[in-house]
Formats: sequence, C-alpha cells, structure tokens
Amino acid sequence: MRESIEYNEEKTKKLAIHFGEILNQIGEDPTREGLLKTPERQAKAMQFLTQGYDINPDTIIEQAIFHEEYSEMVIVKDIDIYSMCEHHILPFFGKAHVAYIPNGKIVGLSKIPRVVDAYSRRLQVQERLTLEIRDCIQRTLNPKGVAVVIECSHMCMQMRGVQKQNSATTSSAFTGLFMKNDATRKEFINLVQAKLH
Ligand SMILES: [Zn+2]
Repeated sequence: MRESIEYNEEKTKKLAIHFGEILNQIGEDPTREGLLKTPERQAKAMQFLTQGYDINPDTIIEQAIFHEEYSEMVIVKDIDIYSMCEHHILPFFGKAHVAYIPNGKIVGLSKIPRVVDAYSRRLQVQERLTLEIRDCIQRTLNPKGVAVVIECSHMCMQMRGVQKQNSATTSSAFTGLFMKNDATRKEFINLVQAKLH
C-alpha cells in the first residue's frame, strides 16, 4: 500500500495485550529480547492490513469521475493484491485485472487499484473480494459492463500443506456486456493474458 496510516494509540495498546497473550499461549516467552516489541509491532501491522474498513471505495471513484463519450473497453491489468483470509487470518496475495466499458462516465485510472486496496485490506475471501470490486465499479460508474479476474496464492493452503506449492486460485465476476457477449468477454481474457510489456 502506498499511503502510510495513523495508528490509533488506544487500539494499538489493546491489540498488543492480546497478541502478547497469544505469544504466551503458543509457548513463547514474550519477555525475551527479540519478542519484546513484537505485540506492539503486530498490533500496528494488523491495523495497517485492515485499514480498508475505514475507507469508502465508492467515494474513491465518485471523486474522480469524468464525463466522456469514450466507449471502448478500459482495462487495468496486474494490480497487486495483498489480503488476508477471514478463516485463518493468513495472507493471500496475487494480481487483479479489472475492465469496464464506459457509458458516458470514466474514472481516473489510478482509482481502480485504490478500490482494490480498499477491499483487500480487510478480512476477506477471494470470491467476495472479486464481487465487491465488480459491484463498486458497476454502482458508481454505471458502465455497460464490468469484468474482474483475480489470481491469488493462499498461505492458509500452501503453508499448511493443504494445496500443492505455487498453485493459484482464480476467480472472476462479470456484469453487462461481459456477461451477455462472449466475444467481449474473450477480448478481455485475451488482453489480460497478452504480454504487452
Ligand atoms: Zn484460509
């Protein structure tokens, strides 16, 4: 994430107490040198990784809407995703690819990665994350169609040996022309897979 955040002192203290207790419970010694500041660091890390709760993704888009007659597919590829699964509170991360077909309104391109961040920096499941990004863009821009594809590696599967190393989970969600029109959806998938850089 690009921006830094203000840490809430009260919240940091409370979280640190609990993280300290977790260290105890897993058999660690929270008073040894390397762990002395760990509860506080973890408290801050957790606030950073869940800062999306304090961000309204609709507002990010609404503040950067421009009226344009452009009506070709707009696509933002390879957006970094860092999130945490709500079942294990372990990271999942990968890439998002987002496209929309404008219907009189476009949005500043940098805003789409910020919407992805706002929904990723919460406890999530990849499927809901995919739908939330799609629905936010549909709701705010009212385009002729939205497409979202997300590919992520889930540490709760890989580190626990549930799934083979390096395997990724892909999810997708579409509205409008991407749903109705096979050729439009294929064009999007081809653009996502093309190596233009
Ligand atoms: Zn999980």
